[in-house]
Amino acid sequence: MNFDVVVIGGGPAGYVAAIKSAQLGKSVACIEKNIDKTGKQKYGGTCLNVGCIPSKALLDSSQRYYDTVKHLSGHGIDVKSVSLDLAKMMDRKDGVVTKLTSGILGLFKVNNVTPIEGTATLLANKAVLVKDSSGKETKIQAENVILASGSQPIEIPIAPWSENITDSTGALEFLTVPKKLGVIGAGVIGLELGSVWARLGSQVTVLEALDDFLSMADRQIAKDVNKEFAKQGLDIRLGSKVTSAKDNGKKVIVNYSTSNGEDSLEFDKLIVAVGRRPYSESLLSPDAGIEIDEKGFVIVNEVCETSQAGVYAVGDLVRGPMLAHKGSEEGIVVAERIAGKKAQLNYELIPSVIYTHPEVAWVGKNEQDATSAGLEIKTGVFPFAASGRALASDESVGFVKIVADKKTDTILGVHAFGPAAAEIVQQGAIAMEFGSSAEDLGLTVFSHPTVSEALHEAALAVNNEAIHIPNRKK
Ligand code: FAD
Ligand code: AMP
Repeated sequence: MNFDVVVIGGGPAGYVAAIKSAQLGKSVACIEKNIDKTGKQKYGGTCLNVGCIPSKALLDSSQRYYDTVKHLSGHGIDVKSVSLDLAKMMDRKDGVVTKLTSGILGLFKVNNVTPIEGTATLLANKAVLVKDSSGKETKIQAENVILASGSQPIEIPIAPWSENITDSTGALEFLTVPKKLGVIGAGVIGLELGSVWARLGSQVTVLEALDDFLSMADRQIAKDVNKEFAKQGLDIRLGSKVTSAKDNGKKVIVNYSTSNGEDSLEFDKLIVAVGRRPYSESLLSPDAGIEIDEKGFVIVNEVCETSQAGVYAVGDLVRGPMLAHKGSEEGIVVAERIAGKKAQLNYELIPSVIYTHPEVAWVGKNEQDATSAGLEIKTGVFPFAASGRALASDESVGFVKIVADKKTDTILGVHAFGPAAAEIVQQGAIAMEFGSSAEDLGLTVFSHPTVSEALHEAALAVNNEAIHIPNRKK
């Protein structure tokens, strides 16, 4: 078998690269090893199967439950009894996953991508060996190869996987709500999964080794988020490094050290959410000549080319944030370059989102980044407490902040904590991609009443021109 493009891995980086390459007229195969119980291939990778999509399905379901229990009475709606059918909630999540994963095979058909089942290994000279689930081996010759084998959760020796110590995948499948739930790591995944189970009734403790909370986020946002999560009942303990976790089959005993000494806690379940590492098991034969760094990332240049001509790598397998949209856009760039176009990706403007409630999101530089890069900045902040729509929806926690260049007024970053923060920051990303100044955004008409008006007012606030801020400087 010969193809112009062979993609190894069918996650958001790989399957998007495959579709784009086919749309650009190439003959394309996408090799994926993941199969379901019936032996049918499951495309979509971590994102669709055990990442973005199932976690968001559970975040949405659990928020509805939490709102019903906690907030509906404030709207004058009395609900006499509320009960949780966890099995049904999980079925709904699984249904969403199946719909989306099988949808990819449909997209392959429409776009003429050949799906191939099996585990692929890149050999010398762009030959690819595929071993399918029955053990049969096939050799494929490619003109171009795109490596997109993704990542896997990091397992730490002090807390090995067991019945009650699990990674993020296991935490999407608990059969009962754990009474006491421990989470190691206050990163994005730890906070999202901790929120799901806290809303459903778990007493959640998050142990984080670092003293800083959300060190990658704007400092003011991180401080407010920490306060808000505490109100929601998430017990986040910073400066708490887990030193051991023992599962006795019923409970997990976790020992951790703080600046005050040693402490320990007992949990029904423990989620280890200390990050992910690139996954390249069986991916590369030594004579393929692909270089890997000390952390296991395939080494690529700024347009995802490896050291071997015609071999590219994208997504979680390479440097940069481990985010689905980053991988997909890299897939597009590579497909276009293979087709002779001069595509590239603006790594400065990849938005980040934490899908808690309220959401936390940002794009571009925050105050710390800008200042340490030697830039002179000005900022504009607008609180949701002053937004009519946010108040009407009972969603008035948080704020939008814009960081702009002091002299040119060019927007350098948009940060939000509050209702629809991800959507608001996305508007900021579009504005920044077009080189917008704060004034440009201030001159744009926003619908009333929307929570997006907070972005408009934050842009006006950059130049001290906000209308609805009671404490505006004179
Ligand atoms: P993957 O999605 O990991 O896909 C790689 C695929 O390659 C897999 O299907 C694997 O089976 C296959 N494969 C590997 N090796 C081989 C081989 N040798 N042969 C054949 N097939 C192979 N990101 C976001 O942007 N937003 C979110 O909200 C978000 N939420 C997340 C929540 C959780 C709980 C987790 C765990 C992750 C989340 N992520 C989120 C991260 C996101 O899932 C990843 O960044 C994304 O899936 C990476 O895409 P990828 O295509 O590089 O790799
Ligand atoms: P992320 O990489 O964003 O998923 O976040 C993982 C978090 O886990 C980081 O903030 C780490 O500091 C934290 N972490 C890693 N190991 C430990 C540990 N042994 N105890 C507590 N926190 C940890």
